[in-house]
Amino acid sequence: MQDETGTAAPVPTELKADCAQCFGLCCVALPFTASADFAIDKAAGSPCRNLRTDNRCGIHTELRQRGFNGCTVYDCFGAGQKVAQVTFGGVDWRSGSGERARLMFDVFPVVRQLHELLRYLTEALELPAAGPIHSELRRELDRAEALTREAPEELAGLDVSSVRQDVNVLLLRASELARAGLGRGRKKERRGADLMGARLKGADLRGANLRGAYLIAADLTGADLRSADLIGADLRDTDLTDADLTGALFLTQPQVNAAKGSSGTRLPASVTRPGHWTP
Ligand code: SF4
Repeated sequence: MQDETGTAAPVPTELKADCAQCFGLCCVALPFTASADFAIDKAAGSPCRNLRTDNRCGIHTELRQRGFNGCTVYDCFGAGQKVAQVTFGGVDWRSGSGERARLMFDVFPVVRQLHELLRYLTEALELPAAGPIHSELRRELDRAEALTREAPEELAGLDVSSVRQDVNVLLLRASELARAGLGRGRKKERRGADLMGARLKGADLRGANLRGAYLIAADLTGADLRSADLIGADLRDTDLTDADLTGALFLTQPQVNAAKGSSGTRLPASVTRPGHWTP
């Protein structure tokens, strides 16, 4: 439950990555392209060259220095251990047929999306202001949770985008209820806005709608982002130094990891301060 300052509760353990219970699925199932985020190309279903046979990353402590920033901002929301231990009963992709391994790699991104939705729905249920729609949120959460426990073949064929659409309608309503009374106006309605490199130092964005906004490399130092909705906002290299994100809605760890910040940045309890931020 949110406390009186609007700070969201910590994310439940089952919605946090537990790499010790996974088979390095994100390092095998997903593709990546050589770029500022990844030092190499890698095809989907092909193990990263840095993945060890014990499913640990061989360069974990030096990912940024070695050009693998993308790995430090990724979060499976606990989908890895669910697929490894529940969907596939604890049997590694290295065992059994190639067909079984391919199925595991197809299922992983589907369950990852479902777990992301579970993460948002769990937070929405913690919002006292969203009380009028708690029963609907609970119903969608139960539905998504049940889907994550389907058989591998069912999961591989799941139309997850339609689940997303249903959940998004509810999340938007929860957001509107939580932000009601915090001030509106053009400056605060920034859904999907292109704010790349924007100078928003010290801006009053309390309760702003920044859903899906492109805030790449924006200067938000000292900005007031309390109770702002940041679902899906692109915060790569966004400067959050000394910004106040207390009670920010639907802010995830990958977003925070991708941003810059400091010890003066105030964060909701649902995320932790990245180690690479300045003191
Ligand atoms: S560099 Fe490490 S964390 Fe990144 S994909 Fe490869 S094994 Fe995984």
